[in-house]
Amino acid sequence: MAKREYPLERTRNIGIMAHIDAGKTTTTERILYYTGKIHKIGETHDGASQMDFMEQEKERGITIQSAATTAVWHGFFDQFEKTPYRVNIIDTPGHVDFTIEVERALRVLDGAVAVLDGAAGVEPQTETVWRQATTYDVPRIVFVNKMDKMGADFQMSVDSIHERLQVNAEAIQWPIGAEDDFEAVIDLITQEAYYPVDDLGEKWEPRDIPAELKDLAEEKRNTLIEAVADVDDDLMEKYLEGEDISIEELKAAIRRATLALQFYPVLAGSAYKDKGVQMMLDAVVDYLPGPLDVKPYIANDPKTGEEVDLIADDNKSFAALAFKIMTDPFVGRLTFMRVYTGTLKSGSYVQNTSSDTRERVGRLLQMHATSRTEIEEVFSGDIAAAIGLKNTTTGDSLTSVDNQLVLESMEFPEPVIELAIEPKTKADQDKLSNAIQKLAEEDPSFRATTNPETGDTLIAGMGELQLDIMVDRMRREFNVEATVGAPQVAYREAFTKTVQARGFFKRQSGGKGQYGDVYIEFSPNEEGAGFEFDDAIVGGVVPREYIPSVE
Ligand code: GDP
Repeated sequence: MAKREYPLERTRNIGIMAHIDAGKTTTTERILYYTGKIHKIGETHDGASQMDFMEQEKERGITIQSAATTAVWHGFFDQFEKTPYRVNIIDTPGHVDFTIEVERALRVLDGAVAVLDGAAGVEPQTETVWRQATTYDVPRIVFVNKMDKMGADFQMSVDSIHERLQVNAEAIQWPIGAEDDFEAVIDLITQEAYYPVDDLGEKWEPRDIPAELKDLAEEKRNTLIEAVADVDDDLMEKYLEGEDISIEELKAAIRRATLALQFYPVLAGSAYKDKGVQMMLDAVVDYLPGPLDVKPYIANDPKTGEEVDLIADDNKSFAALAFKIMTDPFVGRLTFMRVYTGTLKSGSYVQNTSSDTRERVGRLLQMHATSRTEIEEVFSGDIAAAIGLKNTTTGDSLTSVDNQLVLESMEFPEPVIELAIEPKTKADQDKLSNAIQKLAEEDPSFRATTNPETGDTLIAGMGELQLDIMVDRMRREFNVEATVGAPQVAYREAFTKTVQARGFFKRQSGGKGQYGDVYIEFSPNEEGAGFEFDDAIVGGVVPREYIPSVE
């Protein structure tokens, strides 16, 4: 049996979430650089980004794929050199068109870093992803990036968290200077300033806090203590008794409050100028949860109908969630999975309890920024990519053959935009069908349907950019030649808005293989609005002509 390299307490599965352009990609690259996997820092918009390896991403300079990258963190001062931390970074896209990808990532990570633009504070998409993270109970720290940018204002950024996100968040660091003068970072907990001593910002040294910032740093430490004490009884007791609060006590209280989603530590930095990222990694280790610190993932035992809590434990039987399918140029179809409990060896069989098929795992890989390693076994709490799973799609449960469980699955929202796509030739029609099937397996928010009036194929998704990229991928990866119509707001959206506002029914998305069919649960209609259904229709296919044009 292979040996577990990292104990669960030293494992972090994190995501980096942000409004587009806040610096998620740059921050991720710096993380990969400092964790020793990248030796050259690439600029996103030059197309040299390490995480984005798909062509479209390079051309557009945005991140789409939700790949997971495994890194190792030795600590800002190499304090974990002997017993480092494993940090798996689950890539979450920044563009609002891909919120579905964000949701999916949030399902499988334990904690997140929210990156803000220090000149903009909380932005609309920050609010969107923040809300999603709250839905999934994901503890977070906030990294106020771009402190070197014109207009950067740390206090404004902290205030914007209070105002727009309405949460208990306070600074654990304070920047020294801003814009061109952003120089260094004060650790409010230790009351020490850290200054970079080389150009790449790799080595830092502690110094006294500059005299003119001493009062501010002390005041901000008190603000921090009060905010944490407010939600942590132990700290409150000490605080009320007027006792000195040690560095360790304060850090432990911040950790408890952050894990309990009662507090959000805020940090300052500039990924671009190589400042603050290593300290942020220390905060990931200090304050974000490991797999044992989060509430158990829920599964269902189909034999007994009972709920089972999945707690990370190598001695239990294997249970994992397939959260991403990717086609890799070198090895083909990759199924990324988060292992909730048990272990899985390459070459063994798993039960896909979502599709009720048994599949063999050919090989297991772990992805690093610039390399990949083949592993013999993946352990509980970890993430790996399997080669050889042909019938597994995003959101499927993978469990041991002997102890089959169905994991609480992901929900995929209805598409909001659609466009007609017409293949040039008959051969293209077949290629198109194949492409649609493959792409929908990778991304369940992407669907196709047929317009009953014209017979046209319609593809539908969460946004224009997503559909653009899908059409582009059809051409590049599947050689589909087709003409494409103008994007239309999917009829379902207009429909939903009106009807949901009246609280008539709950919609559910179509199951596998029924792309585009709309499954609707109706409650008995009292008010009309064009329906005459007496009984609830659950899981029925509703033909397009039944979709009313209600205002
Ligand atoms: P993403 O869309 O959130 O992934 O953002 P990117 O990492 O692609 O960054 C968007 C733009 O902001 C790029 O031009 C970066 O070079 C720039 N950027 C990222 N981090 C910083 C920073 O700390 N300071 C400044 N001034 N610019 C930054």
